[in-house]
Amino acid sequence: MPNAAASNTRLIRTDGQRLWSDLMTIGAIAGTPGGGSFRPAATDGDRDARNLFVLWAKEAGLTVTIDGVGNIFARREGSDPTLPPVLAGSHLDTQMPGGKFDGPLGVLAALEAVRALDRAGIHTRRPIEVVNWTNEEGARFAPGLAGSGVFTGRIGQEALLQGRDRNGLVMGEELARIGYRGAAPIGGRSVDSYLELHIEQGALLEEAGTTIGAVTNTQYNGGALITFTGANSHAHTTPMSRRRNALAGAAQLVVEIERIGHALEPQGAASAATMDVWPNNRVIVPHRAEVGFLLVHADRDGRDGTLDAIEAAAQRIALALNIEVEMIRAPARDRFDFPVEMVELTEEIAAELGHAAMRLATLTGHDAVNMHYVCPTALFFVPCRGGWSHSELEWCSPEDATAGADVLANMILRRADR
Ligand SMILES: [Zn+2]
Repeated sequence: MPNAAASNTRLIRTDGQRLWSDLMTIGAIAGTPGGGSFRPAATDGDRDARNLFVLWAKEAGLTVTIDGVGNIFARREGSDPTLPPVLAGSHLDTQMPGGKFDGPLGVLAALEAVRALDRAGIHTRRPIEVVNWTNEEGARFAPGLAGSGVFTGRIGQEALLQGRDRNGLVMGEELARIGYRGAAPIGGRSVDSYLELHIEQGALLEEAGTTIGAVTNTQYNGGALITFTGANSHAHTTPMSRRRNALAGAAQLVVEIERIGHALEPQGAASAATMDVWPNNRVIVPHRAEVGFLLVHADRDGRDGTLDAIEAAAQRIALALNIEVEMIRAPARDRFDFPVEMVELTEEIAAELGHAAMRLATLTGHDAVNMHYVCPTALFFVPCRGGWSHSELEWCSPEDATAGADVLANMILRRADR
């Protein structure tokens, strides 16, 4: 196949300065004093970042459509428009607060990749769509990985649209309020492949001095919400022997989960991350407290055994404090392997561009995790300083961002021009 051989030798380059400028500009929307961003899904900040992305996509000549859950697709037509498109992207929403790179890097690098194709005068055979998935983070509304989850049929549309934030606001109404509950049908169309660039959110690449991390597999993820129930009473007058303090149970469990998490390393990790207390009034011994945690493990028995161990610890604590406890497990995600040919494509292109690459697992979910169920999917990482992420400390160097965008651009070209 001489044509394939010819196209395989062609390499394009992204404009690193433009990418960096775009990252800093989007990152300044709902920017925080500590250098991060605060743009949970369907907030004004999310709207403003979406608006700018749509503007830039239109400036690049792309056709923008928005589906019923707010996923944005910016399409560059192929010479054969009947072929399924190559999708590349990530998410513009952030944690509360989050950094400038978790998500926006994958979206803005894909947009810059399309501009690089324009500059190189390349018109691919297959269409290309740059995608911004709604509510990847799950920070304000559960569940996360939501837009890609509905697109791929992994979760129902109602699960996304009916989610409520801590103030009782409804996701679907908030999405409509910011103007991003679109008219396009959700999913139900074939996709050639999906490509996602992301910061590592760990420090393996940095420690190895390697620029590109080709993700081979996911891990076993799980979590739960544990509710302790005691009884309200006067915080001054109730004898200690009669108190049924739900918060005391929650506090003991937080420490116990942290101890269990430390013992899991390096195979896994777990920490309590949320606590809610009722009535949260200092003159009342609290009757209700909820602790939420997530865990990750390299094998199924490790994940399931840790969930069992935490549940047993919660029951021991409840018994000792004369309070009740209930544990509701979050939907668990099992490990899978990304297709070998997509891992190899990442490695080949990194090598052609002169970037060192290594293989690693992803410890957390990404939109690529949903997309892998419907099309050949590649997920790859670039380093982030110190491994910091879901933090204002999150940082990716301009050089690494550009390297990732160059790899992404050429992967898009390879996939779209076959
Ligand atoms: Zn992300």
